[in-house]
Amino acid sequence: MLLELEDISLLYGRIQALHGISLSVAEGEVVALIGGNGAGKTTTMRAISGIRPVSAGRIRFDGQDITKLRADLRVVRGVSQSPEGRGIFPGMTVLENLEMGAYTRRDKAGIAADLRRVFELFPRLEERRRQSGGTLSGGEQQMLAVGRALMSRPKLMLLDEPSMGLAPMLIQQIFQIITEINEQGTTILLVEQNAQQALSRAHRAYVLETGRIVKAGTGEELLHDAAVQEAYLGVA
Ligand code: ATP
Repeated sequence: MLLELEDISLLYGRIQALHGISLSVAEGEVVALIGGNGAGKTTTMRAISGIRPVSAGRIRFDGQDITKLRADLRVVRGVSQSPEGRGIFPGMTVLENLEMGAYTRRDKAGIAADLRRVFELFPRLEERRRQSGGTLSGGEQQMLAVGRALMSRPKLMLLDEPSMGLAPMLIQQIFQIITEINEQGTTILLVEQNAQQALSRAHRAYVLETGRIVKAGTGEELLHDAAVQEAYLGVA
């Protein structure tokens, strides 16, 4: 397994947001976390990226225990930071934002190649490369956040609600690109409110409710699960 969470708990002050989460992501997979508002999806991502310390449990990544490793050192190991909100730098240009994504790297040729790859995936970003991030449309900022995460050439990409606030056509497009990124070899852990899209794209998925995993299965299995359909897919 590339990533393993074993019985993770996490506290915000006296509020316990995660109650013993165990999950795993194998190399090459797209795994989705779905669940309602406040279920703990973003918090799980924060535990993995190291933005918040866990109060109990263990996190293993790429064969090593990273439970207590600093967030920036997790990036160096290959965990891309999940953007908080869209998390781009509004005062920097598109190009500068993308270069920031590669700040832990020294391989200039590799960085240049990855920049070309991001521009191939998102031609819109290339057209706007000299424009400041804050003046991009919502959809373009979302693309920039995904592009910036790719620039760290992660082994594991954490995507927190990549479809948030996007028009239906753009939602299709961003999920298409996520599939492409995965097919090019990047493992992905995806948090999504858009359960329909997430489950149809993911190899496997976990359902979170109030800080606990209540169900797990292949994307296909969960798409056809009556309880999941009723709670998250709007099927009566
Ligand atoms: P949503 O889909 O609404 O974003 P989520 O599944 O991502 O929900 P989290 O953001 O992980 O949920 O929140 C889990 C719980 O932790 C919620 O009850 C939330 O109120 C609480 N929480 C989140 N961040 C903090 C914080 N910084 N301080 C205190 N409580 C927090």
